[in-house]
Amino acid sequence: MAAYGGIDLGGTKIQTVVVDDARTVLGSARRPTPTSGGPADVAEAIVAATDEAVRAAGMQTSALAGVGVGSPGTIEGGTVTSARNLPDWQGGFALAETLERALDTRVALGNDVQVATDAEFQLGAGRPYKSLLGVFWGTGVGGGLVLDGKPWLGRGSAGEISHVVVQLGGARCTCGRRGCMEAYAGRAAMEAHARKEVAKGKRTDLFKLMEQRERTRLTSGIWARALEHGDELAVRLIDRAIAALGAGVASVVNVLDVECVILGGGLGVRFGEEYAGRLAAAMQPHLFADFRPPDVHVAALGDFGGAIGATLLVEPARAPASAAAA
Ligand SMILES: [Zn+2]
Repeated sequence: MAAYGGIDLGGTKIQTVVVDDARTVLGSARRPTPTSGGPADVAEAIVAATDEAVRAAGMQTSALAGVGVGSPGTIEGGTVTSARNLPDWQGGFALAETLERALDTRVALGNDVQVATDAEFQLGAGRPYKSLLGVFWGTGVGGGLVLDGKPWLGRGSAGEISHVVVQLGGARCTCGRRGCMEAYAGRAAMEAHARKEVAKGKRTDLFKLMEQRERTRLTSGIWARALEHGDELAVRLIDRAIAALGAGVASVVNVLDVECVILGGGLGVRFGEEYAGRLAAAMQPHLFADFRPPDVHVAALGDFGGAIGATLLVEPARAPASAAAA
């Protein structure tokens, strides 16, 4: 039996798993992504989280046949450039080489959103389909595509649904443009908006919950809790996010006519089926072929999807087991 390590490097957390050939999770670990320092500090946190997952699996890192990393930013060979959700990571950093030295195994890098989409396509909610759009609703809003059974990367930048314009001249986005879907629906944008509203005197329990839980950000769990309480500002911002997602995702579906939309990401997974239904309803008025909407499912691999997907960079799940075992 071969074992593989998978790492989902996110803006909020580093999720690691150790899996076997069948992608059964043998061990896992999760750490917050460092909010200060630089790429070397992030690499150190990745190594610590990997060690922890390996120990949880009752193994040693040297037993891993390889480690895959799903990373934000631009991936070229073993280098990650301009990962803007990570601390001080504008330039290039040789992440693969750094990790290979520390973990003593081979390391493959891929785009975080694309590996999570591939995981759902090969192993999760996307298995019955030949075309799908992955919508990863978290710190930002990531998108991944599978068309006619193959990942579609375009010239390297495909799937950037975050910056689909849902409001001309609208809210300022982290990308510097205006009216992008992410400027309404991204967790970071919603948090910034909530802070502004509080500064204007609006009342909300969001930041009280954040302090109680000793967090520095409004995590998906905090949003979920505030919604349960019927917190007025939280409800309004989430309604606004769903409306933006509905318009943006429907616009993409109008162009590509995919069979299925898979809702993942920290918020998507946390909110689950009810919100997959809300997304489908918010999309409906914007769909041109409204008589045949795509199926909308929650990501079946949940929080582990990105990390399990990263293991596919080392060895595809559909390859014959005999080829891998030799
Ligand atoms: Zn943008």
